[in-house]
Amino acid sequence: MAEKSRSQDGPQPPPAGMIGAGTAEAPFLSNAEIADRLASLAQLLSAQKENPYKVKAYQRAAGKLRNMSESIQELVQDDADLTQYAGIGDAIASAIREIVQTGSLRRLESLRAEASPEVASINDYPRLDPKRVKRVYKKLGISSVQELRDKLESGEIEQMLGLRLAQHVRQGLTETHAMLLYRADDLRVAVEEFLLGPCRVRRAEVVGDVRRRVEVIEELSFVIDTDDFPGVVARLQRYGGRTPLVSSGKDDAVFALSSGVMLRIQLAGRKDWGLQMVACTGSKAHLKKLTAVTGALRGLKTACTTEEALYRKFGLAYIEPELREGYDEVERAAKNELPVLVTQKDIKGDLHAHSTSSDGSDSIEDMAAAAKDRGYEYIGISDHSQSLKIAGGVSIEDLWAQIKYIDKLNARLKGFRILKSSEVDILADGSLDYPDDLLKELDYTVCSIHSRFAMNREQQTERLLRAMDNRYFNILGHATGRLLLKRPGYEIDIERVIEQAHKNGCFFEINSSPDRLDLSSENARKAAAAGVMIAVNTDSHSTGELPILRCGIDQARRAGLEKMTILNCLPWQKLQRLFAR
Ligand SMILES: [Zn+2]
Ligand SMILES: [Zn+2]
Repeated sequence: MAEKSRSQDGPQPPPAGMIGAGTAEAPFLSNAEIADRLASLAQLLSAQKENPYKVKAYQRAAGKLRNMSESIQELVQDDADLTQYAGIGDAIASAIREIVQTGSLRRLESLRAEASPEVASINDYPRLDPKRVKRVYKKLGISSVQELRDKLESGEIEQMLGLRLAQHVRQGLTETHAMLLYRADDLRVAVEEFLLGPCRVRRAEVVGDVRRRVEVIEELSFVIDTDDFPGVVARLQRYGGRTPLVSSGKDDAVFALSSGVMLRIQLAGRKDWGLQMVACTGSKAHLKKLTAVTGALRGLKTACTTEEALYRKFGLAYIEPELREGYDEVERAAKNELPVLVTQKDIKGDLHAHSTSSDGSDSIEDMAAAAKDRGYEYIGISDHSQSLKIAGGVSIEDLWAQIKYIDKLNARLKGFRILKSSEVDILADGSLDYPDDLLKELDYTVCSIHSRFAMNREQQTERLLRAMDNRYFNILGHATGRLLLKRPGYEIDIERVIEQAHKNGCFFEINSSPDRLDLSSENARKAAAAGVMIAVNTDSHSTGELPILRCGIDQARRAGLEKMTILNCLPWQKLQRLFAR
């Protein structure tokens, strides 16, 4: 609904003649409007119990379209081959052509006509899963979105059907403008190319939350240099077919991108480039501390062509964007005591990866080869433990066999080591999911909570503290279980958990999975301050996921971490000593 109402209610685009698109027969459709139809189709197919892969394919294509800078309608009118874009196959391409040529989609219309009133009622909210909503309708005896909303607000859905279902409904009904950082990165590249290409700006640099690597973003902002600002504003309104202009001034403008986030551009010249970069990168908290030293930035009389020059002018060292959060970075910059932030190059291995032994899709050998190709010295294979049946948890016998198997593989490897590990479930009572005599044979463990999220804060904290009392507990996996934009994670008393980790010689991880990034940067900062080391792990389930390390590194940098705080910046020999408790 969010995108739909936005794309229809927003300011009118320039007349069709001026933008050279749209014909007398077919209305002009923005990428968002085309994507909305694909998403609605996906929802109706899912209600029909259609193959889930097919449903996902339509959902993914809809997401892809929202991020594209070219107008899909123009591409179709130019007879372009749509299957050249990743995620768009023949079936989806022909659906898109039909939408553009006729303004509708027969399959969608017929499914809508056949749909039960309950399913039809939610078709404006394509992110709602019809099967789950049907369950809610049945259980609560309701049949409309308004009633669904009421029951959500009164807490009845959560009470009668549980927290997860309530969260799903809330997410589906909420107008969201937020986006995961890694998705925004794709969008950033597309917009940047559009600015430098068709908009012909001289220079464009990303600023704001994206530059500071905030894990969830609502706005994409650029500082740009051009002689024709009004021309750029006009061009941007054609981004993705049509992008409504929300507001514009003499040197800035805001647009509503079809992917749900806002696009902001700020004009800067060579002379005030550094100043605008600092001002637009933020954060507010950083600027507050900074301007306490510099005075109002916009009032600066002298030229600041670079950010370095601006900081230097006030006796400050250059502050990396990831650190600009208003902690102590300005004070430390004044004393030239800023941390030297960890980079991907400092990483010597990955300590959390899955293989086909549990729910991964590549073999141990393939995972090892891919890690070696990345220049690593080791990779820890930490498949799920026996209780986690839905993720193919490894039985006791099979883990014994895997330990022997890895020993054999290691005997053949030179300059690289496969570490024997497991992602051991922390059971509800705080015990670990394998017997000690087996845990003892592992090089180290990652211990995680995957069940009983609903336990209260006190119980959940006790559960973790007890688990850490086991001498074979090494790294706490994804400490809070949060899934960004999906669920908040279970509640724990992080201070007590950090204290226990410090006392018992346990460690944390920053899980690099873009929707986890758990520890959060705040919690990682606290852990490091308490002297607890942190691993930056990918939790890869295939070789293709190893590069998401960069997301975890971003998070570590936001926490101000240096390489000496990061476990996997150490060679195995040193790590080994830390893991022996
Ligand atoms: Zn896990
Ligand atoms: Zn895992």
